[in-house]
Amino acid sequence: MQSIIITLIWCLTLVIELGRLKKWMYLIPLALTLLWFSLQRGNSTTFSLKTIVFSLIWLGSWLCLQFLKKIHTTALKKLDQEVRATQDKIQSLEMSDTILQEEANTLEGSLSEKEALYGSLEELNQTLEFSKTVEVFSQLISRLTHFEEGWLLVENLSEETAYRPLCYQLFRNEKPLLKKGKLEDILNKAEKEILELSKKSGTPVFISDPDNDARLTHPVTPPLLASLTGIGLFHEEGGLGCLILSGCKKRDLEVLEILAIQLAMEIEKSLLYEKVRRLSIIDGLTQIYLRRHLISLLEDELNRLKNQGKSCSLLMIDIDHFKHFNDGFGHLAGDILLKELSSRLQINLRAMDLVGRFGGEEFLIALPETTIDEAATIAERIRRDVEAMEFRIYGKILKLTLSMGLASYPEDAKNLNSLIEMADSALYQAKNSGRNQIRRCQKT
Ligand code: GH3
Ligand code: MG
Ligand code: MG
Repeated sequence: MQSIIITLIWCLTLVIELGRLKKWMYLIPLALTLLWFSLQRGNSTTFSLKTIVFSLIWLGSWLCLQFLKKIHTTALKKLDQEVRATQDKIQSLEMSDTILQEEANTLEGSLSEKEALYGSLEELNQTLEFSKTVEVFSQLISRLTHFEEGWLLVENLSEETAYRPLCYQLFRNEKPLLKKGKLEDILNKAEKEILELSKKSGTPVFISDPDNDARLTHPVTPPLLASLTGIGLFHEEGGLGCLILSGCKKRDLEVLEILAIQLAMEIEKSLLYEKVRRLSIIDGLTQIYLRRHLISLLEDELNRLKNQGKSCSLLMIDIDHFKHFNDGFGHLAGDILLKELSSRLQINLRAMDLVGRFGGEEFLIALPETTIDEAATIAERIRRDVEAMEFRIYGKILKLTLSMGLASYPEDAKNLNSLIEMADSALYQAKNSGRNQIRRCQKT
């Protein structure tokens, strides 16, 4: 019986311990022990001794249990700490892996960005015509930056190239638009201010909030939500022009700077190309087509008209007694006269007509979609106009007359060479008939 009670008390203690019950509950088995012993009969000394011994054994066992529990908890805590440390390590490894991945992505991104930039510069490099250069540039900044709209201004072009300051309006992913007129009318005041700022500054001028920036004294109208960037274009002799772009981000500046340097070089190159091209097709003195280019244009034109079943008339013009004129007033005066005559001829013609210097003082005019009768009327108008003209050269008033030969496609000839020959022979007839007149070609 005694051992059953002791076992029960032990079981109760274990239940309290393992059940993680309240601490004061340990008093229950202790109280039960005391109660049980107090109910025992026998002498009081044996009872007290038994009670004390059993209580000590119970206490000792309980302390042992607590000790084992402590060791177990410490071991568990250590294990937990180790697990946590391992988790931390895994996390930090994962983090450094992400960072490495991000760095690799950034490197890859900047590499492909550089590759794209290089490819773009190549693309820009391949164009020669000015308008094409501007078009390619506009495509590039649409692709490589956040630009929304802008202006490309090219100024300070040498006089001899006959190019005026050029102003292109740029749009994102759209063709640039050549703007005619004065710069003052095209740009608003804030844009003009940023133009001046960037012309002075060697580096890009970036204004993130144009409506509240002290550098702009004039308000942007209408208020601009995007940024404004101004980049000067420079060549060896100095400023070449400027780029004004809206919507760019600060991180676009690096790419824009590189593109602007390349653009400046390309502008110079295409202007030089156009100058050379112009020299090869335009006569320097009279500013009309040279014979070879005129013939090539005429060939194309005649083919077009043939396909459409339309006519084309040629007018061969020669100044009368020009040798005398030169002899009397000198070659320089003769040159001025040739120049003035060529601009006078152009005044009398339509935009679609072609006029060129065929020889020394001979001009060839092509009148597309014009019958021989209409051409005769135009020729007569020119003849009379020039006859009535007074050329003021070196303070003297000089007059001259023209002889003209007329031939028409398709009635007089079916190909260009024959047509020119016919017009030339008609001119010969006009000369022989006394000059200052127009002759139609005679079919043999
Ligand atoms: P005609 O009425 O028969 O045409 O007489 P012409 O004196 O005009 O004779 P021709 O057409 O043969 O004239 C050619 C002259 O034109 C020769 C040359 O002195 C002059 N000439 C040709 N080219 C130039 C030029 O570029 N400048 C100047 N000043 N004179 C030129
Ligand atoms: Mg002549
Ligand atoms: Mg002549």
